[in-house]
Amino acid sequence: MAGMALANPSASGARPLPVASEARIEAQGETVRLTLTLSQPVTANAFVMAGPDRAIIDLPSVNFQLDPKVGQKGAGFVSGFRYGLFMADRARVIISLSQPATVSDIATRTVRGGFGELVIELKRVSRSDFAAEARSAAASARLPQVEVAPRAAGDSRKIVVIDPGHGGIDPGAVVASIAEKSVVLAFGQKLRDLLEASGRYRVIMTRDDDSFVPLGERVRIARAAEANLFISIHADSLARAQDVRGATIYTGSERATDAESARLAAKENQADAVAGLDDSEDLHDVAGILMDLAKRETRRFSSIFARNLVENLGASVRMHKVPVRSAGFRVLTAPDVPSVLIELGYMSSPKDAELLNSEAWRAKAAAAVNAAIDQHFETTRAPAQAGGKSAASDGR
Ligand SMILES: [Zn+2]
Repeated sequence: MAGMALANPSASGARPLPVASEARIEAQGETVRLTLTLSQPVTANAFVMAGPDRAIIDLPSVNFQLDPKVGQKGAGFVSGFRYGLFMADRARVIISLSQPATVSDIATRTVRGGFGELVIELKRVSRSDFAAEARSAAASARLPQVEVAPRAAGDSRKIVVIDPGHGGIDPGAVVASIAEKSVVLAFGQKLRDLLEASGRYRVIMTRDDDSFVPLGERVRIARAAEANLFISIHADSLARAQDVRGATIYTGSERATDAESARLAAKENQADAVAGLDDSEDLHDVAGILMDLAKRETRRFSSIFARNLVENLGASVRMHKVPVRSAGFRVLTAPDVPSVLIELGYMSSPKDAELLNSEAWRAKAAAAVNAAIDQHFETTRAPAQAGGKSAASDGR
């Protein structure tokens, strides 16, 4: 790395990434300082998040060449730190806090030889100040958040959230240069177009382009929209079973119906980790959510919809031999939004892959999902929204 011509980044060629070669952490009174040595100066942004308490430093893409153990030791109220690429053009340092603190200063300076030094200074704050800062950070657009407009008064359309899996730095399954993220986006957009054309639905996409959306954010969008249905779209791959084919509908459950479903959920739940996001923060959420009694009713509706889907989809496309299953998918944890995950087929099956990539197949399958959604709302009453909002007037 030392030989790179860092001083003269050309606009045409690929610019070398800044290399982080050293990190050190030290406590001094009420202050903890984390210093990163970089091959060139970078700009950084900081914010804090609660539960678990942490400070997050967003950087441009950085090639981390640090001692892997460097973040395991803390100092003062910092219990340690992690780092990694977060998105294609962003890196992140996550500093774990044992007591509430804020980033009081970030200094970028050029040191000898054109190297950069990033000094992050943290100071203890009160619990209430920390909580207020975390709330305002959460409200600001630190991630590519989808704006969710509230349900307009008098708008009686059902709200359907379509969640094309993966995206951006996380391609999902990749077989013969076809990425799951592209297949499922194309399908989601087709389904959206059909639903909107009917005039009966307001559709919200968790992503409408090739961007990364964290799993928790997908759930947040469904809940913020007070969605009547959440449909996550995927296309799995089985490395050693090219003959396994067909679509499967999954509902969320702590206990998987079978080992393959458990394995699949574990793989899909890795999406945040693939993007360098710390997914332990989500586990915290899940534990709380699983305690929520509202989920019982939501689950019943999820199961009813899953069966509708199998019925409608099964009439026009090939289904897996066990077409309805359950497992602990992170994206299926909204306690108040009936949610299913559709595995459209197996990218690992050459036949399925060909169909998944075909416009005609997508149109046929999307029409079947549309029919299942129609049937769902014609034959079932929507569950009351959790949280005691206005939907209590449902009078069930
Ligand atoms: Zn997937």
